[in-house]
Amino acid sequence: MIPLLDLQAQYESIKDEIDNAVQEVLKSGQFILGPHLKALEEEIAAYCDTEYAVGVASGTDALHLSLLACSIGPGDEVITTPFTFIATAEAISQTGAIPIFVDVNPKTFNIDANQIEEKITPKTKAILPVHLYGQPADMDEILAIVRKYSLNVIEDCAQAIGAEYKGKPVGSFGETGCFSFFPSKNLGCYGDGGMVVTNNPEIAEKVRLLRTHGSKQKYYHSLLGFNSRLDEIQAAILRVKLKYLDEWNERRQKVAALYETLLKNSPATTPYLAPERKHVYHQYTIRTVKRDELQEKLREAGVATAIYYPLPLHLQEVYNPLGYTEGSFPESECAAKEALSLPMYPELTEEQISKIASEINRT
Ligand SMILES: *Cc1c(COP(=O)(O)O)cnc(C)c1O
Repeated sequence: MIPLLDLQAQYESIKDEIDNAVQEVLKSGQFILGPHLKALEEEIAAYCDTEYAVGVASGTDALHLSLLACSIGPGDEVITTPFTFIATAEAISQTGAIPIFVDVNPKTFNIDANQIEEKITPKTKAILPVHLYGQPADMDEILAIVRKYSLNVIEDCAQAIGAEYKGKPVGSFGETGCFSFFPSKNLGCYGDGGMVVTNNPEIAEKVRLLRTHGSKQKYYHSLLGFNSRLDEIQAAILRVKLKYLDEWNERRQKVAALYETLLKNSPATTPYLAPERKHVYHQYTIRTVKRDELQEKLREAGVATAIYYPLPLHLQEVYNPLGYTEGSFPESECAAKEALSLPMYPELTEEQISKIASEINRT
């Protein structure tokens, strides 16, 4: 079976370094808000070309605490895409604000910037673009709208660490950039983890307060916060892995290039790479009208695939109260029926890629 991703293969390739890093933390006796987190925050800020980075417990919390730090709450609206993981909209809803969906561009699967402006109301406070599958959203267009209406941008970079738009890293465009270190992400830890990056010292400070019970000085609390920290074991693991991230992302690009060549004449549509972007291929997602049939055939041939995402957020039961119906966002609904993500990870071999491609070409 060719899996969708292979975390064991990656671990094997850096086992000694990881084991040593974990051992070191265990021996140090310092597990929360220690030197590894501080160092990782500096390294991620440098990597993202931002002034500050604040480690939190997950990508979802990175989004949630970012929104709170931007004073978004009940009565506010935040514009985002319905074709994403639930956490994007969930974080908005958890603040008491309402997610306002805008359909996607069918080529990139990212929010269609041309449809954003018509959704802006006096309640709109922010735009939350997602760099889906590892490809940056249309940041110039989004930033132009944001300037015109004095809104915040909060970037969901959970799938896109290392991606660039016009040579600038994702996460450095918005008021904050939000990263996830969930194990399957391009930079994954061995548990949950996340990070907020920003150039705004007040936002950084506020996220730091929020992640630790609204407290700067222990046992003195200035605001209502959370327990949302990135622990030392995960930080130490991430520091080892960060050194390899660019190499792994380059390998993903090579895998994508080989897929592209081998699938040239297949009935499926291969990913569209929009201009002036560095795509880090968190997922390699093709489109085909006979998606379910193809998925079944590949399963029989021993190739794992996945559907990201089978039901757009506006049609999820949890969002019934928002009143959207089938047809509200036709491109997202169509993408949910046609998208199929193929195995994608740095250790995927040419032989495996060839096998997958030939199975697809035979359909
Ligand atoms: C993974 C992911 C998240 C959430 O990250 P967690 O660390 O799992 O909380 C948010 N948005 C997108 C687009 C994701 O892929």
